[in-house]
Amino acid sequence: MQILQQIIFILVAGGAIWLFVKNVKNIQRNILLGRDITLHDNKAERWKRVLLLAFGQKKMFRYPVVGLMHFAIYAGFIIINIEILEIILDGIFGTHRLFAPALGALYGWLINIFEILAFGVLTACVIFLLRRNVIRVNRLNRRELDGWPKTDANIILITEIALMALFLTMNAADKALQLQHYGHYYQTSSFFISGFITSLFTKMNPQTLVIIERTCWWLHILGVLAFLNYLPYSKHLHIILGFPNTYYSSLAPEGKFENMKEIQNEVIYAMQPELAPAGEQPPVKFGAKDVPDLSWKNLMDAYSCTECGRCTAACPANITGKKLNPRKIMMDTRDRMEEIGRNINKNGEYIDDGKTLLHDYITVEELRACTTCQACVEECPVSISPLNIIVQLRRHLIMEESNAPAEWNSMFSNVENNFAPWKFSPDDRDKWAEEMRNS
Ligand code: SF4
Ligand code: SF4
Repeated sequence: MQILQQIIFILVAGGAIWLFVKNVKNIQRNILLGRDITLHDNKAERWKRVLLLAFGQKKMFRYPVVGLMHFAIYAGFIIINIEILEIILDGIFGTHRLFAPALGALYGWLINIFEILAFGVLTACVIFLLRRNVIRVNRLNRRELDGWPKTDANIILITEIALMALFLTMNAADKALQLQHYGHYYQTSSFFISGFITSLFTKMNPQTLVIIERTCWWLHILGVLAFLNYLPYSKHLHIILGFPNTYYSSLAPEGKFENMKEIQNEVIYAMQPELAPAGEQPPVKFGAKDVPDLSWKNLMDAYSCTECGRCTAACPANITGKKLNPRKIMMDTRDRMEEIGRNINKNGEYIDDGKTLLHDYITVEELRACTTCQACVEECPVSISPLNIIVQLRRHLIMEESNAPAEWNSMFSNVENNFAPWKFSPDDRDKWAEEMRNS
């Protein structure tokens, strides 16, 4: 019987890990649909950011209470995984609390720390569920979250509550069995949190307790493996991608825009024709129309988005009633990237589906509303830049489709002809400067 359980465990765990690796490869393939950029400079600064923003969650603490609860979930989730290691080894070797004899009294302390963290995760998740569904915080109940995003958020919270409850119940039943000196149940110190419910179990017969303890053990580990495979379909993927995404975030001073190299070259060649490369050059594309025109970092941003809406809550365009919503920009980019990924999975390569990120997902009206103020970038806790995507799409709109409002077009021709946004010629400007100097 024991060996059968071990075989089932190894098959289920192996299958879950295989499936997860397969899904991760799909995600990697989708991210690499983006054009290549190099982001390996200044490694020390990048690691500093990872420590402060990803591990330390610095930006989350702008709202201290929410930040603290989020930190409890995050720390609990990471540290309790040490306990998952013991569960997996027990499953493979058919042991029970494998680390307990070796760690002695320290083992009891560790389990108690895990229990306190588990209780913290459980409490924070209940509060987050209430904020979303009962208090209905505005940022978490906007139209772009209707349907799957809202369900996804609730699934994550409910699953975490269930996993923590199973962990605590398993420990309570285990302790009750220890008190009855039953079978191989190793004697540990008291458990602080599950100790409160152990009294519910002390009068039960050991066979029932073993069923409760084993059921919780199996449901807990199966839940963890299922959750692992749920991540690639969920915004919860940020618990993994938040770290590399922060590492590769832009180190440029805030507000600095990248010049378009192709345009710079055009200007240089106009001024110094001798520098122009000989022969006909392949046509260049300006800006981005679809997902493959964006960089891989833009696409990693889309997978890392937690859909928290902090960017949208700070966006002046959105606050003043415009259609632009930076969270939706990230969600649209991910949706379109996954659509292309499914297309490739089905056909072996991308077959044109007649759709593009620009127009089919993100409209001209949204793009034009952006003031490029950077508030969304500044607010994002996982170092995402919705602005970078907006600017690239807008560059395509203007430079490839000549799609700009009349006022912008007259400003563009002023810049082209007068080297300034106003309609005065450079000579008049010099005259004005001269008059100012002499006045
Ligand atoms: S940069 Fe654009 S999208 Fe971002 S907050 Fe400012 S106006 Fe909104
Ligand atoms: S882009 Fe950043 S701030 Fe905006 S919803 Fe996503 S994670 Fe939150």
